[in-house]
Amino acid sequence: MARKKELTTVADKLEQLEELQAIHSKIDAIHILKGELPIEVADLEDEIAGTQKRVAKVQVEIDDAQAEIEHRKTLMKEAQSLITKYDKQLHNVKNNREFDALNKEIELQKLEIQLAEKKIREANFTIENHKKQLDEIQKRLDSKEKDLDIKKKELQNIIKDTEKEEKELNEKAKEMEGEVEERFLLAFNRIRKSYKNGLAVVKVSRNACGGCFGFIPPQTQSEIRTKKKISTCEHCGRIISGVDDSAVFISEEEMA
Ligand SMILES: [Zn+2]
Repeated sequence: MARKKELTTVADKLEQLEELQAIHSKIDAIHILKGELPIEVADLEDEIAGTQKRVAKVQVEIDDAQAEIEHRKTLMKEAQSLITKYDKQLHNVKNNREFDALNKEIELQKLEIQLAEKKIREANFTIENHKKQLDEIQKRLDSKEKDLDIKKKELQNIIKDTEKEEKELNEKAKEMEGEVEERFLLAFNRIRKSYKNGLAVVKVSRNACGGCFGFIPPQTQSEIRTKKKISTCEHCGRIISGVDDSAVFISEEEMA
């Protein structure tokens, strides 16, 4: 429901452009707020999923080491009982060949026990290291999950708080765009698109353009103050709607 206002003075047109800029700056601010949080949330979710996979992998390695220990303990028991059996048989040997063969078997079983002990030590070492790793990973995971929770809530709040405002701002922008003279609107949109901060209409502040901070000579500032014509910044082309006197004035001599 755009109503065409009859704007006669340049001052009115500048005021309108200022208002349009203010609306768009507010919409931009909402986009910036929302634009980064979803990425941060997605990144955190990816990181957490990756870390959980690592936890699972380390846990499997711990389980494997535990299984290895059990397996080696069984082998040790078997070797031990064989040694006991061969020891008994040694008392009843009939010849040297049998005696040697039994002793050789006993040696083999002792080696089996030594090997098992070595493997158990290694597995215990692995388990100890991996448990330390798990502790560290778990701490990081906890903090990431806390972060995610905070950011998710933040995002939900922003969406909840801004949904209505954004809709209203968009409607207001549309309405204003219907009122602004077409050539100014085209310039406004073109300038806005070419700058990352989305500023097309700025004021002079402390002798500088509020968009690019380029120096605005006193004479140009005087012209801007008269609001007889629409001025643009000679450095960046932004529309200059006025001079912000709330900023401390710095003379040319002081700037030099
Ligand atoms: Zn500028």
